[in-house]
Amino acid sequence: MSAATVPAPVLEVEGLEKRFAGFVAVDGVSLTVAPGEIVGLIGANGAGKTTLLHTVYGRHRADAGSVRFLGEDVGALAPRDRARRGMGLVFQTTSIFPTLSVEENLRLGAMPKSGRASLGDADAIERTLVTIDLVAERAVAADDLAHGQQQWLEIGMALLAEPTLLFLDEPTSGMTRAESRRTAELIRGLRAERPDRSVIVVEHNIEFIAMISDRVIVMHRGTVIADGPIDAVRADPEVQASYLGRRG
Ligand code: ATP
Repeated sequence: MSAATVPAPVLEVEGLEKRFAGFVAVDGVSLTVAPGEIVGLIGANGAGKTTLLHTVYGRHRADAGSVRFLGEDVGALAPRDRARRGMGLVFQTTSIFPTLSVEENLRLGAMPKSGRASLGDADAIERTLVTIDLVAERAVAADDLAHGQQQWLEIGMALLAEPTLLFLDEPTSGMTRAESRRTAELIRGLRAERPDRSVIVVEHNIEFIAMISDRVIVMHRGTVIADGPIDAVRADPEVQASYLGRRG
């Protein structure tokens, strides 16, 4: 492929480092994400996956290295300013309001983008209800949803800000197999809706990662030890030794 046909990366991370009281949690990580790519980020507990996401998103200030998003160095920006530029971060069920309905939660999710404390964009909310498969549950209080549905609501709230790059941290944690399969469809569907949208997914569930990822990045002790298609990563001796080989 000639240089002219390679699209500019959405995300370029170069030599990123994050220390906690001298402990190096992220140790010189470099990676890129292309428009429309779904990237799985895997590694043992404590490998630095969540810290990497949070440093890229600006929740942690990097100790060294750079983060370029859509060609702009965003290293000095607060998370809300990175979000305004199109980054979205979803954790395990932390931002939904349990006593409010699905639809009311989505309206709140739409507010930062519209900048108004009134109704969110009604069309966007309808589209999102379909995407996250909660049309029939629109009037149900978030607290009364199944665990998997709460996770989809979280993703829906993030989607209303129309992120160009979405970070998902362990989206299938605590889900049934059926819920995980549905979540894989949902994530693949995000790109079908908008082909330039990129997603980085942190997960321990390797079968799930295999279902959704175009590319897999493996972290070990704060560094990237493999980056490529799932089959190549699975066959990599270093990955086998440090992570996959030790999993039941
Ligand atoms: P898991 O799969 O268990 O979520 P992870 O790969 O996401 O793990 P991190 O949560 O990024 O790993 O943690 C990487 C290392 O940094 C761990 O040793 C952790 O204890 C440490 N760490 C993370 N956050 C902090 C913090 N706020 N203060 C001090 N140490 C931290």
